[in-house]
Amino acid sequence: MAKQEDQFKKVLSHAKEYGYVFQSSEIYDGLSAVYDYAQNGVELKKNIRDYWWKAMVQMHENIVGIDASILMHPTTWKASGHVDAFNDPLIDNKDSKKRYRADVLIEDYCAKIEAKINKEVNKAAKRFGEAFNKEEFLATNGRVVGYQEKINTILSRMGASLEKEDLLDVKALIEELEIADPLTGSRNWTEVKQFNLMFGTKLGASADTAMDLYLRPETAQGIFVNFLNVQKTGRMKIPFGIAQTGKAFRNEIVARQFIFRMREFEQMEMQFFVKPGTQKDWYDQWKTTRLKWHLSLGMGAENYRFHDHDKLAHYADAAADIEFKFPFGFKELEGIHSRTDFDLKAHEEFSGKKLQYFDHEENKSYTPYVVETSIGLDRMFLAVFSNSLQEEALENGTSRTVLKLPPILAPYKAAILPLVKKDGLPEVARKIMDDLKWDFNVFYDEKDAVGKRYRRQDAAGTPFCITVDHQTLEDNSVTIRHRDTMEQKRVKIIELKELIHAEVAVKNWLQRM
Ligand code: ATP
Repeated sequence: MAKQEDQFKKVLSHAKEYGYVFQSSEIYDGLSAVYDYAQNGVELKKNIRDYWWKAMVQMHENIVGIDASILMHPTTWKASGHVDAFNDPLIDNKDSKKRYRADVLIEDYCAKIEAKINKEVNKAAKRFGEAFNKEEFLATNGRVVGYQEKINTILSRMGASLEKEDLLDVKALIEELEIADPLTGSRNWTEVKQFNLMFGTKLGASADTAMDLYLRPETAQGIFVNFLNVQKTGRMKIPFGIAQTGKAFRNEIVARQFIFRMREFEQMEMQFFVKPGTQKDWYDQWKTTRLKWHLSLGMGAENYRFHDHDKLAHYADAAADIEFKFPFGFKELEGIHSRTDFDLKAHEEFSGKKLQYFDHEENKSYTPYVVETSIGLDRMFLAVFSNSLQEEALENGTSRTVLKLPPILAPYKAAILPLVKKDGLPEVARKIMDDLKWDFNVFYDEKDAVGKRYRRQDAAGTPFCITVDHQTLEDNSVTIRHRDTMEQKRVKIIELKELIHAEVAVKNWLQRM
């Protein structure tokens, strides 16, 4: 646990020190769970967004994008169910005055039991070696089966109580399990209350005519209300998708995990409209496609897992999360939801406008079903950043901090470094820079000894360093150093573009899908 916390602290301080993420309004002591992306962060974020957009829109003939407004007609949120049901159950600790999500306290309690199961599994795996059969062990070991039953009982009781809005029972469960405030150990809890997560705002100048609005809590509804506009003007045939990236806002109760849970964040969503009855196939297909997208970045298959939902949201007939191993454990990175025709039907009902598709092949109209893929851009940023940050022991006994960002996502693809700040080397380096900058984001640095500059670029995540030295003046060659292997090769200046391109071409990355 302490190791995890240390690693997470390193992520936070590195993100600040190397110009990736700053606390918002830091000079006023910040605003809780709101962050700003700095000079390198904004590039990494843009590259992740582009990588998603290319995979989802450019690579699919039947998916197009839109950019809907953050402010929407307030009836949108009545229709979508957000006004009535976008709530989290909150509970306060009377002694510490800290606020928690009641469901998260209970889930964390279960995660501790799960950790015990994992401990038993690891012990048994060691004991039985090659002969160990995990499935069989999980199904037959008395202690493990007991733990699992306990988890199931707790979670199904919590799910049922939340569904029935029986908040008294949620509180009773917390008390029966003797769950304490994780920070202070106090068990002095208030009642559980529902808390709506939408931020309200007003449109209009005068107090009596102003209209109450919400900042959108998800981008999806901007797609649903535009469904027919896009379908008609784009002459889209089912199945087809509409993609969008953009800001969403949630007044999260507990927001203590850096950019994992923010109050203002960005989503990358795609709603795929399908013929009713085919949703299960598309749901399975999108689960596979999205996992492949993640794996194409080479961050280790062992760091991803699916979590299929037992308890479904009111609009869904199937849902799964792609979870990623963050520094604080496996947590949701992306959701894939089969949303039925709930949203389109609700908007039809509330707007009084038809939102149906006329299927020429079948010669009839119907309300399409929707399978959506929804990923948090900031969470993806945290996944990439935390996974890439490594402390590496070197052969000479020292160590280096290196940010092994997938080169396709790195803010700068190469740093151009004149060995010394004289003898005409900076001029040659500038010329290389001027040539490469048409194709790649490149960085120029002539300050400090070259070794120190290499370390700086390693820590900033730049995949290549190109060094101009005296030999360059004689034969137009430079050294190119790879961040991950630290290997240096002498190459001709004219070869540089090709070499870098091979490592950062989107085609080479997406084709690993
Ligand atoms: P969680 O259970 O973690 O609150 P959610 O299930 O409410 O997430 P969705 O409504 O499915 O999330 O949103 C889709 C995606 O948007 C999530 O998978 C996540 O990556 C991202 N996301 C949701 N809430 C936040 C937030 N507060 N900060 C950053 N990203 C978020």
